[in-house]
Amino acid sequence: MKKIAILGSTGSIGVNTLNVVRKLGKDYKITGISAQKNVNLLIKQIIEFRPTIVALGDEGAAQELKKRLRRFRPLPRIYEGTSGLIEFARNPVSDFLVSALVGAAGLLPTLAAIEAGKDIALANKEILVMAGDLIIKTAKKRGIKILPLDSEHSAIFQCLRAEKIKHVRHIILTASGGPFYKYKKSQLEKVTVKETLHHPTWQMGKKITVDSATLMNKGLEAIEASHLFGIDINRIDVLIHPQTTVHSLVELVDGSILAQLAIADMRIPIQFALTYPQRYPSRLQGLKLEKIAHLTFYKPNLKNFPCLGLALKAGRIGGTMPVVLNAADEIAVEAFLVGKIKLTDIPKIIESVMAEHKVNKKPSLKKILETDQWTRNRTREKIKCS
Ligand code: NDP
Repeated sequence: MKKIAILGSTGSIGVNTLNVVRKLGKDYKITGISAQKNVNLLIKQIIEFRPTIVALGDEGAAQELKKRLRRFRPLPRIYEGTSGLIEFARNPVSDFLVSALVGAAGLLPTLAAIEAGKDIALANKEILVMAGDLIIKTAKKRGIKILPLDSEHSAIFQCLRAEKIKHVRHIILTASGGPFYKYKKSQLEKVTVKETLHHPTWQMGKKITVDSATLMNKGLEAIEASHLFGIDINRIDVLIHPQTTVHSLVELVDGSILAQLAIADMRIPIQFALTYPQRYPSRLQGLKLEKIAHLTFYKPNLKNFPCLGLALKAGRIGGTMPVVLNAADEIAVEAFLVGKIKLTDIPKIIESVMAEHKVNKKPSLKKILETDQWTRNRTREKIKCS
């Protein structure tokens, strides 16, 4: 039996993971779930899945959970705060971790699970952007698998099952383009938070939805792919594909192109990661290819969507630069969501923080965390002054 803990069970990926596990049957058991502060949903999940351990990032929310569960039996062990999330991820009641927090918060808990020898299904791409070398090195040392949950990376992973990485010419990451891919610069200046959060194809958490609208998400994914598949970032291309039907492609040295196609539903890559290397049947519909009149692909417009170019640049520079990119983006996206800055300010702020940073080429974990903190402070100062 696979014993699964989920970091971020109340989020979009977490809820979809529970939907998949509900249908997989008795070989899959949820032993741990966690959230930041959504106590109401967490309690519903505890009642249904009866996990042995639970964690809440927010300590106030953990106190509320303890109070509300005082008569519940069997009572799960409740962890709280940052150190609690690490203990939760390390606890041997699970042998498999779904890493689905947003942003840098997932780094230390996921590393703890890797060090404890657990296989990881990874959605939390930001941690590979920050610390990809360290995570992949630690995973290799412990002999564990990092299975991609992102639909694009799952597509590439599936294409590469029968191929050697040395036979790959290019990886082609597809992007829906988000809600604004046809907008002019002048229109982008005026978009609202509500419009930005209305993604054309995917229902996702707020941070990734904003990142999709700026195309930062695709840049983070290019860095993620370079670490996951051990391929130079210069060999990763991005194409806008508004139908979100081809989830990504791999071009081989003989000119053949392999692709994975499916409906846009995260339960497909999630189920594959949970059941890998097996393939379980699912009740989800297949694609009706005869009903798809066109599959279109465009080069992204880097002038209107500079976040993608900034991410590719950070990925090429490497070292601590992607840490800066990621932390500046997290803070700028937060500021956009509360109405402090415009969508088009996000790349300007990130670029100016990146310009101030002196790169450390081979950072330790300590240096990564220091750089993350420095960037957050510097980005907040810049937003205050803007
Ligand atoms: P959501 O915002 O929907 O969910 C995030 C989850 O993490 C929630 O359970 C939230 O708890 C918890 N959380 C957030 N911050 C903290 C923290 N500091 N400490 C502890 N828990 C925290 O995000 P998504 O599910 O959309 O995305 C998760 C990750 O997966 C991201 O990295 C994203 O880029 C990636 N991804 C998402 C896809 C999608 O379809 N959604 C597709 C591919 C990748 P609470 O509910 O209490 O706030």
